[in-house]
Amino acid sequence: MTRSTADIRRAFIDFFQANQHQAVQSSSLVPHDDPTLLFTNAGMNQFKDVFLGMDKRDYTRAVSSQRCVRAGGKHNDLENVGYTARHHTFFEMLGNFSFGDYFKKDAIRFAWTFLTEELGLDKEKLLVTIYHTDDEAFDIWHNIIGLPENKIIRIATSDNFWSMGDTGPCGPCSEIFYDHGEHIWGGPPGSPEEDGDRFIEIWNLVFMQFNRQADGEMLPLPKPSIDTGMGLERISAILQDVHSNYEIDLFQSLIKSAAAIIGTDDITSKSLRVIADHIRSCSFLIADGVMPSNEGRGYVLRRIIRRAVRHGYKLGCENIFFYKLVQTLADEMGAAYPELTSQQAMIEKVLKLEEEQFSNTLARGMGILTDALKSLEGDKIPGELAFKLYDTYGFPVDLTNDVAREQGYEVDQAGFEVAMQKQREMAQAAGKFGADYNNVIRTEVETEFTGYEQVNGTANIKQIVVD
Ligand code: ATP
Ligand code: MG
Ligand code: MG
Ligand code: MG
Repeated sequence: MTRSTADIRRAFIDFFQANQHQAVQSSSLVPHDDPTLLFTNAGMNQFKDVFLGMDKRDYTRAVSSQRCVRAGGKHNDLENVGYTARHHTFFEMLGNFSFGDYFKKDAIRFAWTFLTEELGLDKEKLLVTIYHTDDEAFDIWHNIIGLPENKIIRIATSDNFWSMGDTGPCGPCSEIFYDHGEHIWGGPPGSPEEDGDRFIEIWNLVFMQFNRQADGEMLPLPKPSIDTGMGLERISAILQDVHSNYEIDLFQSLIKSAAAIIGTDDITSKSLRVIADHIRSCSFLIADGVMPSNEGRGYVLRRIIRRAVRHGYKLGCENIFFYKLVQTLADEMGAAYPELTSQQAMIEKVLKLEEEQFSNTLARGMGILTDALKSLEGDKIPGELAFKLYDTYGFPVDLTNDVAREQGYEVDQAGFEVAMQKQREMAQAAGKFGADYNNVIRTEVETEFTGYEQVNGTANIKQIVVD
């Protein structure tokens, strides 16, 4: 029996509530009071200060289904959309949290029980990674859970060691993977083929157990904590017996509706997947108050909208279409996120206007790019051309890159930056552009969120540097 995505979300919350967790609403995609973060990208974001001991709640266990966007900054999955079976710009992260309450053994037991008993997953298809030195985790997985040794993979990279900053809470992770079967290309984590989609990471368990000092010394935290995150769409795919997230109920509705609106029969087209992905991130971002603009968060939104519109164009769509998908999205997700329904008209209006503006230049820009590709030697699109498309036709550089990649080319990014810089200097010298123009440029050179960056198990929180 397959289970709907809405049903799995409910089952997760119910399971942890039954285990004394407080159900906490998803926070906004726009993080409050956190300049280090572009968009909410994990369930733990809203609990950051609780983990740091700077905020107290009247509960020590929590459960949530958090809306997340990973389309910029360190966690940028925009380029993965349409290319992997498991990445979205917008997704929901199911998470359970312990603030100095239970620790490793219970976290592992909860996860295993939920997956194998509550959801009834086949144990044979599950395997886990642990941080290479975490013998305690190995012992729990092997001796308590009963997972054979060859299903517990030790990983030495930062993928399996989490930290919040240079100093402060940190600790090893254990990730749970599902084997979708030999017919799909890819190898287990740590193998040379791990980039494939056969073994898909479903759940990350973070064991916060150290407090890193300025001199690098790791002191044990007096009250170790737990932070976990599981992708709702990935677990749905398993329970609905499909391989790709894009084949689950929710995405199939969006894809079918996009196909009908655009007028295409090729239901498996990559462009439809991209469009179905992008309508979710764009609608949720607008519902959370982000507006398309030329800087910061608003520019990320604008880039995603333009990318979606370009994929519609690629499918031969000649009309304004993107906003029409909001209805299907509200039908699918409005029960869990009522703001989608209450703000539907506003979201549609913003998307419609943005598409209308861009469609004026899209066809001309595409014409220039297509012609250029025909006569191009080598596989690099000159930075000058990418800049012209950006400057004159409103093609964000990642959009040009998206088109290029489909045909085996890539943009000369460094050349693009040089062209941008040249323009900026000319503009400054002539003093003829106002603040708006400079803002556009600033957005492009913005060093995006690099918080929680992990290098060999160490981490740096960096501010969003705009200049
Ligand atoms: P991956 O290695 O597949 O990119 P991740 O290690 O970056 O995943 P985490 O940061 O550990 O992911 O996030 C916790 C969980 O959230 C993952 O185990 C996965 O199930 C889910 N997840 C992460 N990124 C995405 C995404 N872009 N789209 C859908 N689900 C995601
Ligand atoms: Mg990732
Ligand atoms: Mg991973
Ligand atoms: Mg992970």
